[in-house]
Amino acid sequence: MASFDEWLDAYDIVYRTLPTSSDLRCPNCGHPTLRLVFTAPPGSEHGYASFWCDTCLEGIHLSRAPIPDGVGARLLDVPAEERNRGIPDYRLVT
Ligand SMILES: [Zn+2]
Repeated sequence: MASFDEWLDAYDIVYRTLPTSSDLRCPNCGHPTLRLVFTAPPGSEHGYASFWCDTCLEGIHLSRAPIPDGVGARLLDVPAEERNRGIPDYRLVT
């Protein structure tokens, strides 16, 4: 199982390729199915980052993540059901 630090390294790589999507492989299972979604208060440049793998359903959650230019964030003031659409209930690595 990949450690939090390994997930953080993967996050940095995926983050730096934004707004282009990355084909980086998951630090845990090796599949190129990593997903990154930002959620933020309206007008904020910082928010929460949900970063997970669609194959093994593990990942990390970061707060105060700067939202890069050209990347849309989901707004915190929309209903959770809509905000969390497409984000699976993945296992958080801590
Ligand atoms: Zn995986």
